Amino acid sequence: MRHPIARAWQRITDAALSTDPRRRTLVSMALLALLLMASSAGVMLLLAEATQTMNVTAVRWWAAMSVGGLVVMTAFVRSGQTARLGDPSLTIAQMVWTITSGAVAYVLAGEARGIVPSVLAMILFFGTFALTMAEVIGIGVYALTAFGCAIAVSTRFSASTSGYIDTAYALMVFIVLGGCIALNLRIQRIRANLQRKREALAEALAVNRELATRDELTGLLNRRAMQDLMALEQRRALRTGRPLMLAQLDIDHFKPINDTHGHSTGDRALQAFASTVRASVRDTDVLARWGGEEFVLMMAETGPDDARDLLDRVRQAVEALSIPHTTGALRLTVSVGLAQHRTGDTIDQTLERADQALYTAKALGRNRVVLAPPGKGTGGVSARA
Ligand code: GH3
Ligand code: MG
Ligand code: MG
Repeated sequence: MRHPIARAWQRITDAALSTDPRRRTLVSMALLALLLMASSAGVMLLLAEATQTMNVTAVRWWAAMSVGGLVVMTAFVRSGQTARLGDPSLTIAQMVWTITSGAVAYVLAGEARGIVPSVLAMILFFGTFALTMAEVIGIGVYALTAFGCAIAVSTRFSASTSGYIDTAYALMVFIVLGGCIALNLRIQRIRANLQRKREALAEALAVNRELATRDELTGLLNRRAMQDLMALEQRRALRTGRPLMLAQLDIDHFKPINDTHGHSTGDRALQAFASTVRASVRDTDVLARWGGEEFVLMMAETGPDDARDLLDRVRQAVEALSIPHTTGALRLTVSVGLAQHRTGDTIDQTLERADQALYTAKALGRNRVVLAPPGKGTGGVSARA
């Protein structure tokens, strides 16, 4: 159980920032900008009241406008109305507003204008989170123009102590601006780089996932992926009560093909076999390479009679297959052991029954489909060739 204060705090922040995580981030950023602006305006107001060297009325108006603008923008972000905009955080609008406010403050602050460059640096720092490279340059040009105007209006470039100080402040503004833009662009480049790496990683991950579930030679599902699928189908069959059939397929006398024609011809025969079987089964049947020249076929929502007919068609398709070869055409036949999954059995037990039926099919002379008996016991009795 969480502490009541923690829960109260959660309720307050939920109400202030919204419960939508994306909007929460945007609103907290807007509130941070608002807090910084309000603090800076507070400092300006205190200074104006204390020194009486500034136009106090003008500074009050300035503070109200600067803070008010950001309050309105924060409210917009909080309302969610900016979500559809290209810049949902309103970062560009906030920056243009605060840069303008900073330039005006530079004029209003008089001799105290030395406080402005540090605030300017802080404003530009906000851009690193949301701006593109072009926007950084655009904002930079705007800041240079706005502060260029402010400096032109307020700076006395004269050979006197106050003239030197004014000139130094003006130079500091340009140094801070230049430095911030350069750093911002650098961060943008790093961000773009990271984005590229993330994309490359996601692509590699997708390839890896494909490799982890597929057999490279035939493109069929591999054994592990098939085991996951069979476990899933087993649970579904248990829930729906619909029949589930599993078949073990093993190519007959495959070893001699390798021995006579070489391993690569054997590989080609495996590929031809896999695509022939896949083309002969239905979309809902799942074929996997179980290992070597052994395959497993899963037929959901299928009874034993339909499954046997289907596999007999598969057997005939394989028999009709002719694989072109330098010394004539290669022919294949396949033996199939078929078992209906019984409620309460494991998938491994059903596969074992299918394997027993396959053994029987081989023993009966190959090129046939044998259905495992439904009751306990081994081997098959019902064969077709
Ligand atoms: P049976 O009718 O009793 O099944 O006879 P078989 O010759 O097919 O016997 P078995 O199933 O024991 O032989 C499997 C052979 O399949 C052995 C191996 O050389 C070959 N094999 C297994 N995996 C591959 C593979 O990836 N590529 C190739 N070319 N051959 C493979
Ligand atoms: Mg085998
Ligand atoms: Mg074999």
